[in-house]
Amino acid sequence: GMSSRRKPDWLKMRPPSGRQFTDIKETLRERDLHTVCEEADCPNMGECWSGRNGPGTATFMLMGDRCSRGCNFCDVETGGMEALDPDEPANVAAAVAEIGLDYVVLTSVDRDDLPDQGAGHFAKTIREIKERDPGILVEVLIPDFRGESDLVRKIIDAGPDVIAHNIETVERLQWPVRDRRAGYDQSLSVLEQVSEESDVYTKTSLMLGVGEYDHEIYRTLSDLREADVDVVTLGQYLQPSRSHLDVFEYVHPDAFETWRRVAEEELDFLYCASGPMVRSSYKAGELFVDAVMR
Ligand code: SF4
Ligand code: SF4
Repeated sequence: GMSSRRKPDWLKMRPPSGRQFTDIKETLRERDLHTVCEEADCPNMGECWSGRNGPGTATFMLMGDRCSRGCNFCDVETGGMEALDPDEPANVAAAVAEIGLDYVVLTSVDRDDLPDQGAGHFAKTIREIKERDPGILVEVLIPDFRGESDLVRKIIDAGPDVIAHNIETVERLQWPVRDRRAGYDQSLSVLEQVSEESDVYTKTSLMLGVGEYDHEIYRTLSDLREADVDVVTLGQYLQPSRSHLDVFEYVHPDAFETWRRVAEEELDFLYCASGPMVRSSYKAGELFVDAVMR
């Protein structure tokens, strides 16, 4: 068949190595910064961190490693959030310059505990990076800010190149998968606001293999296009631990390729990265630049 429940060969990982990695890691430790790449042990580090000719993309995780929410697919710990580090925006900008990244992804835990849910801190980090070098492309992967449009506006106004917000899964499976405070319509509305109020590119991501049907994937992709979302990425859900949501199936690479074609050729997304190992920020810089130049 096209899918099975046993972890297949195409998901075996090759850990990165080499001097460049050691250097990047040192810079990050010196500035007390966290990347999703390292923390999620992302299988794509070898590709993302080296780009085509040198450091390419990295995903910084802002505002700590504890989240006010608890999604059933996510390995980040819930509760016990720490105060924001006021130096973090400047430290991220300095590390980006030092490493020589040309495409930066900024993401964060959800901070429902803060009055502005962390929108100001996000905005400040974008500005710090752009002030040092406006040529660096900045993608932000933002929370839903509980659908509060003034907070989304703060992000738009800071001038990122891409605003991503993940819808994660199809409508029917939102709550077994995501925290109860998240939701399908709320996430769509965040993306729609960005499309309507700005020229910033919009992007979202879905995990496959949590029990969704094909017609539901299609419907979700259509809803996203309706909201004028430019880019979509599709990847395989992997269970971070036994206490997390079960993997329903390992979707075959051919099925991912079919969805890529549907998204790009039929639904007219600017591009779709789709594959078992694809993550939201997978080769984000390369793919983005290629698509925009196309
Ligand atoms: Fe993880 Fe984000 Fe959900 Fe928090 S809101 S638990 S960081 S997926
Ligand atoms: Fe980092 Fe994202 Fe690339 Fe993984 S896919 S290495 S998290 S930039």
